[in-house]
Amino acid sequence: MSGNRVTVATAWLDGCSGCHMSFLDMDERLVELADKIDIVYSPLVDSKTLPEQVDVGILEGSISNEEDLHKAQEFRRHCKLLVSLGDCAVNGNVPAMRNPFKLDAVFERSYRDNVDTQPQIPTEGVPSLFKTVRPIHGVVQVDVFVPGCPPHADTIYYILSELIGGRTPDPSQVTRFGA
Ligand code: SF4
Repeated sequence: MSGNRVTVATAWLDGCSGCHMSFLDMDERLVELADKIDIVYSPLVDSKTLPEQVDVGILEGSISNEEDLHKAQEFRRHCKLLVSLGDCAVNGNVPAMRNPFKLDAVFERSYRDNVDTQPQIPTEGVPSLFKTVRPIHGVVQVDVFVPGCPPHADTIYYILSELIGGRTPDPSQVTRFGA
């Protein structure tokens, strides 16, 4: 807590940013929430240093590479409560669709077969992919799972309202997989 306000950090790992867009879809309720929470680290704000202690960490996306793993572990260390936001975070969803295939085949398909101009597999400036994609709880302990692709803005508002009120949210009351 910062005063009476709940501190919140968010990050997207291997996701499409749609879950963060759903966060923004809370529209005018964001103004209400602004009185109750401080977003201390997020792609949505300027601050890019994760504070030592954060009340709520929210992760979108799955674990596909070393950078994702490092970020999930960093959030787990710094956040009292960790939320998996969206199906990619909860079960791998779209990023995990590559799991049945060997990495070489994925690279060939993505960077050569479907490319018309200068097909090449990038080797610099990109994190190397893990052989398989894992959900967040495949690498760190998660406290709250919020399914949905993306979770509805009403669902995210419910989760945050419960946390602000000091209650443990039960997302199964308001959402379902793929909703
Ligand atoms: S759960 Fe859906 S909306 Fe969220 S990051 Fe994954 S694909 Fe995008």
